[in-house]
Amino acid sequence: PYKGKSFEEIMKVRGEHVFPMVTYYKNPVMITDGKMQYLWDEKGKRYLDMIGGIVTVSVGHCHPHVVEAATKQMEKLQHTTSIYVYPEIEEYADMLQSRLPKGLDCCFFANSGSEANDLAMLVARMHTGNHTILGLKNGYHGVSPTAMGLTALHTWKFPLPQGGNIQHVMAPDPYRGLFGGHRMDTDGKVSEFIPGPCLPKETDDLKAADLYAADVRATIDGSTSGGVAAFFSEYIQGVGGTMQQTQGYLERAYKMVRAAGGLCVSDEVQCGFGRLGHTFWGFETQGVVPDMVTMAKGMGNGFPMAGVVTSKEIAQVMRKRLHFNTFGGNPVACAVGKAVLEVIDEEKLQERAKTVGKYFGQRLMDLQKKHEVIGDVRGMGFMWGVELVKDRKTKEPANDLCADVFELAKDHGVLLGKGGLKGNVFRIKPPMCITKDDADFVIDVMDHCLKEFNH
Ligand code: PMP
Repeated sequence: PYKGKSFEEIMKVRGEHVFPMVTYYKNPVMITDGKMQYLWDEKGKRYLDMIGGIVTVSVGHCHPHVVEAATKQMEKLQHTTSIYVYPEIEEYADMLQSRLPKGLDCCFFANSGSEANDLAMLVARMHTGNHTILGLKNGYHGVSPTAMGLTALHTWKFPLPQGGNIQHVMAPDPYRGLFGGHRMDTDGKVSEFIPGPCLPKETDDLKAADLYAADVRATIDGSTSGGVAAFFSEYIQGVGGTMQQTQGYLERAYKMVRAAGGLCVSDEVQCGFGRLGHTFWGFETQGVVPDMVTMAKGMGNGFPMAGVVTSKEIAQVMRKRLHFNTFGGNPVACAVGKAVLEVIDEEKLQERAKTVGKYFGQRLMDLQKKHEVIGDVRGMGFMWGVELVKDRKTKEPANDLCADVFELAKDHGVLLGKGGLKGNVFRIKPPMCITKDDADFVIDVMDHCLKEFNH
């Protein structure tokens, strides 16, 4: 049992001595313990964690194998930097690159997703000699001064110069985008066409992807010198409310970016490490191979670590100057990263994301049939978005209701995630160890809470 300071005492210190921060709830919850898919507050109340510290706890809170790996490494060699040679970093790099397509075999380690994206931008600019970077509207790539420029949600962007030369193209969003689209499901099957205001009926196969990608072409032609350094995207935009790209988009966009001399970067900070069930990485769902992949969050199951993986040829550009990251790829992080990959394999967690995730998604879609207020259910594996709207036709965001249900679900022991620009989307991305029973419980709680508010 927790014997520390009370919630009130902790909140007082937070109010007086800690930078103002986002708190998820009107009545915040104080977490003191975690084990696998569960968290406990200071009073011993248990919560089912359906957001895993924002998609970070991939294999389970305090997973014994990960804890053991970290502890053993802490006792043996806690820290040295990559200016020395130590086996842990090479062993982990070897293991990680074996999960990626051929050609993506050179790893650099950092400590956060923002840092990884910063480095990827630096590498792309230096390698191509171009400066402009393209990202998707509604994307989130971090909040360091450079990464903040790539993030495309005004709520996260301070009104200061950011990143330099970054342009955002239309998000290929089947639900809110102009051209609708097609989504892939957990089995890798592509959905029927979802109509959009400017493409009510699709005539050609994957026409929506052509139309969204045309904005990449138009942006390169109209807003750059004609050459770009890189194009960044998340296959499913996490912070942006689980926006799942229309099928075929990346293939088309990558072609245009490469023709303009740019590198294609897949931000796998949320989608990577088996969460999607059908594939290990988000880009694989689209049959493309990026030039660079950035990763963090689930990579360390909660331990701060991040990575950039690219080809040996592209990585050579780092020789032009000294580059160093004190904690990046430290022995403990590498031991943790290795243990996470071992657990994903041994416990068949990608397979679990496929089976339990598919079941959960089906139950969410059934819930949508019962509740008019659920405008859209999207995602795959263990990465779901449930969007609440006041009217299914106008799609006006029901953000107040979303906040109420979110709060009440917490009181009933389920921690959901919340996001999207308007804050009207439940983001559900649990540790990958959840069971069918957990999935059923979440559905019951969501059903109950929606009914409580008369929907
Ligand atoms: N990329 C994506 C897709 C993310 O979701 C996030 C964090 N939410 C980041 C990058 C930035 O990661 P970090 O907070 O570790 O800097």
